[in-house]
Amino acid sequence: MTGISDSRSPRKKLLIVGSGPAGLSIGRLCAEAGCDVRIVEQRDHIAGNCYDEPDEHGVLVHRYGPHYFRTWSKDLLDWLSRFTEWIPGRYYVRACVNGELVPMPVSLSTMTALKGRAFSESEFREYLAQQREVFESPQNAEEQCLAHVGRELYELLFRNYTTKQWGISPRELAASVTARIPLRFDWDERYLNEEYQVMPKRGYTALYSNMADHPNLRIETKVALDEAQIRAERKHVDAIVYTGPLDAMFGCRFGALGYRSLRFEYEHHAGMQFVQPCVQINYPNEHAYTRTVEIKHVTQQQIPGTTLCFEYPEEEGDPFYPLLINEHRERRERYKALADAEREQDCPIYFVGRLAEYKYYNMDQVLLRAIDVAHEILQGWR
Ligand code: UDP
Repeated sequence: MTGISDSRSPRKKLLIVGSGPAGLSIGRLCAEAGCDVRIVEQRDHIAGNCYDEPDEHGVLVHRYGPHYFRTWSKDLLDWLSRFTEWIPGRYYVRACVNGELVPMPVSLSTMTALKGRAFSESEFREYLAQQREVFESPQNAEEQCLAHVGRELYELLFRNYTTKQWGISPRELAASVTARIPLRFDWDERYLNEEYQVMPKRGYTALYSNMADHPNLRIETKVALDEAQIRAERKHVDAIVYTGPLDAMFGCRFGALGYRSLRFEYEHHAGMQFVQPCVQINYPNEHAYTRTVEIKHVTQQQIPGTTLCFEYPEEEGDPFYPLLINEHRERRERYKALADAEREQDCPIYFVGRLAEYKYYNMDQVLLRAIDVAHEILQGWR
């Protein structure tokens, strides 16, 4: 990208609120294009919820839940490769059902483990034909599961996990939430479908620190700006990128949007290489926690001892997930109209990322969207 500022025009100034993947990637691209970029971050660290760090035993842990990087986009992977080397993403998940660990998502392996006899593809299709219920266009997560995997698998694997994770009935939750989970007619036990499934070799904090390392980009941590302070910045900069919660930027005037949070509890096992067979075990039907994550399986850290993280869904706490129920989806559209109008002003405000767009984005989707916004900002200044 070529510079957009030269000696005849003053350097364009960009304020970014939030130093997660969205803020940092826009910041980097604009800094490289010659803009003066200031990022403010309310936490005491960068990288948003991708933040990882060694715990007190030296085990690298993902502080805000596991992040399994995957994408279909080779271009995105190439761009990120400027900031990190990669290791293969060993993303394998099992669900605990009646004390047995069965592969997730549902595949021939899962059926074989559940039923205790080998399932062929045609047997599985026959099974699904009997189990599935017909919904032309599933209106909620329960209907999506019943239409997709049928009653039995819904009850065993999805119903209670979803209720626990979201604190509501799957009947109230958007179908798109459980539709994230693939269904397989082969023996592939990987959790995800995307072509590229990789982990940054030295972790996400290292990746995003490298992205942030540019002379035109400065970051101030422990700086929380409220709505009025962000608007006041319009006098000093040429554009603003906002990555915080959408409703907060408008004083929650249409009512609050729901965000789901998590609490993490850690258990260190000294001298153990691993304590579970794969990175993630889901517990749909027992315990208050939804899953245990032993991230060492994917970081491949060479260290004695391992740390297990238990995830407890919570209503209060840092916002992690948009709670996709009808009421909030309608509210979101009203806030989005306001957000769109902010982008049209002289000093535009761009709303980007999971919280600011109230969308259940994966990391690669956030990054692709952020790159588009960076191009839009820079185009506007040419
Ligand atoms: N889900 C489930 N059982 C599982 C795994 C997932 O019911 O064993 C449902 C649940 O509603 C969850 C959603 O599928 O919130 C999406 O799962 P994913 O693994 O993508 O969630 P994330 O890793 O983003 O928390």
